[in-house]
Amino acid sequence: MENNNEFYTVRGYQLLKKNKKMLTSSMEDYLEMIYRNSLEEGYMRISTLSELLNVRPSSATKMVQRLAAIGLVDYKRYGIIFLTESGKEIGKFLLNRHNIVEKFLKTIGIAENLLKETELIEHNVSVNTLQNIYLLNKFFDANPDIISKFEDFKEKSNIENMFD
Ligand code: ZN
Repeated sequence: MENNNEFYTVRGYQLLKKNKKMLTSSMEDYLEMIYRNSLEEGYMRISTLSELLNVRPSSATKMVQRLAAIGLVDYKRYGIIFLTESGKEIGKFLLNRHNIVEKFLKTIGIAENLLKETELIEHNVSVNTLQNIYLLNKFFDANPDIISKFEDFKEKSNIENMFD
């Protein structure tokens, strides 16, 4: 799967694995959000971060200090967060992982609580599963007729019999 590397950045994943013991799901959320929002300006403000994550600025600051302690962000200037090189690579992986899971859920017809559902899966999915979901997404893109067949099939199916 060599040529898919840019989409999930293997190095980002390896770095994530190295930091796994230190990175909680919540820290992953922060890093993903900081990466997402640093794409344009190259930095993120604590105030914006706390707004977007619905937490108090003091909680955001604490979490950012934890990320700084393991070398993933630079937080020297008051209120402004910069990602380090490792932080960028892991952040990129986390954002791609999020997008791959979200796209898959959308494809199978999940609309309600899409973000929450993505959240529940993304922090626990293995890279092997993620790669295969990524390929399945690609396969669906290349074969849109399969999706309409699936939608028809869903309509005709009785989900009540799921466990019979
Ligand atoms: Zn996410």
